[in-house]
Amino acid sequence: MTKTELQKFKDILLAKQGELAQVLRNREGIAIEKSPDALDEVQHAAERELAIRNLDRESQLLRNVRSALRRMEEGAFGVCLHCDQDISPKRIAAVPWTAYCIQCQEAADRSQVDSSESFDELLVNAA
Ligand SMILES: [Zn+2]
Repeated sequence: MTKTELQKFKDILLAKQGELAQVLRNREGIAIEKSPDALDEVQHAAERELAIRNLDRESQLLRNVRSALRRMEEGAFGVCLHCDQDISPKRIAAVPWTAYCIQCQEAADRSQVDSSESFDELLVNAA
């Protein structure tokens, strides 16, 4: 990968990081909102649950973006964390914060039906 390409992805990652940090800050209020009205409470509970789920997903994404930036500092950006092969440029262009090549990601998705997040966590904890 050339310096220009790296810089381009760094810009994308930094922008994404800022955007997610902003979203997560704004969400904190919603997630703990309470209502004294019982009917409202049911509605709010559903909204809270959705907000918390989004929060989880966005927190996970933010972690991925941050570790991609860290790998960039270490000169390991674009290399699969699992098999050490270069991740295809097409995949990086589509998902710049990805840590895995498509083969490893698909293998992870297959073995962990519920989510690939735990696979990410596993490797992060092992690192
Ligand atoms: Zn791989």
